[in-house]
Amino acid sequence: MSKGNLFVVSGPSGAGKSTICRLVRKILNINLATSATTRKPRVGEIDGRDYYFLTIEEFERKLKNDEFLEYAKVHENYYGTLKSEVENRLAKGENVILEIDVQGGLQVKAKYPNANMIFFKTPTKEELEQRLRGRKTDSEETIQLRLKNSLKELEYEKEYDTTIINYTVEKSCEELINIIRSKEEEK
Ligand code: 5GP
Repeated sequence: MSKGNLFVVSGPSGAGKSTICRLVRKILNINLATSATTRKPRVGEIDGRDYYFLTIEEFERKLKNDEFLEYAKVHENYYGTLKSEVENRLAKGENVILEIDVQGGLQVKAKYPNANMIFFKTPTKEELEQRLRGRKTDSEETIQLRLKNSLKELEYEKEYDTTIINYTVEKSCEELINIIRSKEEEK
């Protein structure tokens, strides 16, 4: 049985969840698992901080060695949470946030039924598209693929315990912090 609380944050790409998770990590000094991916780094992203950027061969080797808690193919790249980012921390009583897609979220829920499942979305679909376009680091083809997948991702909201609608960064941070603190008080 894990002693720390596990928080899974999912929702459409571009909804702003990684910004919120990073801010909350700083404010609460909580663990945010660094995922592994075969996607190429975006400008400014750093290996080991934003992701562990792996080749497909490296990712598949880790898969074979059973090193992943969950993994999924998202927007044509592999993404996965390494067990080493999560299991020891939970066993030590530390809380961990996973910022992962819905396929991964469901795998985690099956393994950790007590995980706190948080869905994150923009107020409207139009806003989601604007945000995806505003990123300016992705090609039109990538934007179209992400938009299509993001709309599918919205269908999984019902599998999650709580939804945060990203009206403003401040409000969303506050909501996530409140969820984490209320679980802390239940302990
Ligand atoms: P991005 O390429 O924009 O950083 O992330 C694309 C999508 O992959 C996002 O929805 C993000 O939540 C998801 N993702 C990031 N890390 C993981 C992970 O470790 N596992 C899974 N299943 N999805 C992830």
